[in-house]
Amino acid sequence: MNQHSPTQRVALVTGAGQGIGRGIALRLAVDGFDVAVNDIHRSNDKAEAVADEIRGLGRRAIAVTADVSNPDDVATMVATTVSALGRLDVAVANAGIAQAQALLETTADEWDLMFAINVRGVFLTWQAAARQFISQRGGGKLIAAGSNASHRAASFLPAYSASKFAVRGLTQVAAMQWAEYGITANAYAPGVVNTPLWAGDPEGFAREAAKIPLGRAQEPEDVAALVSYFASPDSNYMTGQTVIMDGGLNYN
Ligand code: NAD
Repeated sequence: MNQHSPTQRVALVTGAGQGIGRGIALRLAVDGFDVAVNDIHRSNDKAEAVADEIRGLGRRAIAVTADVSNPDDVATMVATTVSALGRLDVAVANAGIAQAQALLETTADEWDLMFAINVRGVFLTWQAAARQFISQRGGGKLIAAGSNASHRAASFLPAYSASKFAVRGLTQVAAMQWAEYGITANAYAPGVVNTPLWAGDPEGFAREAAKIPLGRAQEPEDVAALVSYFASPDSNYMTGQTVIMDGGLNYN
């Protein structure tokens, strides 16, 4: 433990200027965490607005700009969080992109960008956070954005589905290698969530949402409720899991 209050927990959420990440950051603040709100440079205003909302809830918050696919940015992001908020207890590697595409037409650059953000971004965020957890000697909770496409590929999302399968594999190996440090690693696997991610494909959103057995699209708050559990001591015995929460579209 460091010299800061051991009871004041700190969470970092990547890609938290909007959508699911914003929902998670706000929920963790309600749960009592101080929060570092990350997004990329062009969304810095959005991250600042979320940090303001969190301060309005009575918690400390910072906005921290970083591209999660860049190792130097990620190292600085974690260092800035610790220097501003005192420690790190929970890291949510939420940032991700999606693209509807045909596998025959997918370019190598499109493929690489998908993996750079959705997979390398999780790896770098978790590695930097795990190093911080180990230096604090108190364990910690690693959380990532998977998808129901981590379990069953979506035909219109080839590179995305492959990237989310990779997140599931990384979640398992992080659980194996870092259990000895008291670190758990779990991923949330949502379905069709009502966020700007779908802004470019409103027809796809309506088509996929219409298939949901529970009869409505998922909201960021639904996902945040699962992440709240992952971040809490109630999930201390769970690790290596990519948990489907998609309104009944898929089953384990
Ligand atoms: P979104 O597009 O609304 O928000 C993603 C955020 O990540 C944006 O603020 C964006 O600026 C940020 N971001 C993008 N690249 C970044 C980078 N390199 N570094 C830092 N930040 C970056 O998306 P969302 O719907 O909120 O999705 C969040 C996560 O949940 C993603 O990983 C996504 O794949 C996953 N997910 C979403 C859905 C869905 O239906 N929306 C379903 C399953 C999983």
